[in-house]
Amino acid sequence: MRAPSGIESVRECRQCCAFCDRLVYPAGCVEAQCPFLYFYDDEASGRRYMGCLHKVFRGEIDVELFEQAQRTRQGFGGMRLAAHPLPLCRTGVERAYYGSGPAFECVNPDFWQEPDPLPGDGAFDLRDGLDR
Ligand code: SF4
Ligand code: SF4
Repeated sequence: MRAPSGIESVRECRQCCAFCDRLVYPAGCVEAQCPFLYFYDDEASGRRYMGCLHKVFRGEIDVELFEQAQRTRQGFGGMRLAAHPLPLCRTGVERAYYGSGPAFECVNPDFWQEPDPLPGDGAFDLRDGLDR
């Protein structure tokens, strides 16, 4: 099987039958007041949307639906990674399948660690600038 590279190696692991994906949690973007989180109001629909300027997750989220989901026990949950996360992104690994036996034994424990930041990502982290 071809070894994953680039964003694929950060986004997913298919080395056993658990099929793990790394997700980014937009609730973390809101709580961190990330400078890359944008909001806009769609005049046609009257809806408000939010998205990631850095495109760590793609697409835009309906803010009202997000807030409704956040009030539930499960919360809004995670979005598929579309780009390498920045140090301030809240990410986590979720496995798709559970089972017993060697086919479900993790052979890639490093995948559960936070991914290393890309060179230069510190310069992209504007939190320091916001504090000044
Ligand atoms: S850069 Fe990360 S924390 Fe900021 S909006 Fe994008 S996903 Fe969220
Ligand atoms: S359990 Fe480990 S080896 Fe299996 S898919 Fe997940 S990270 Fe990869």
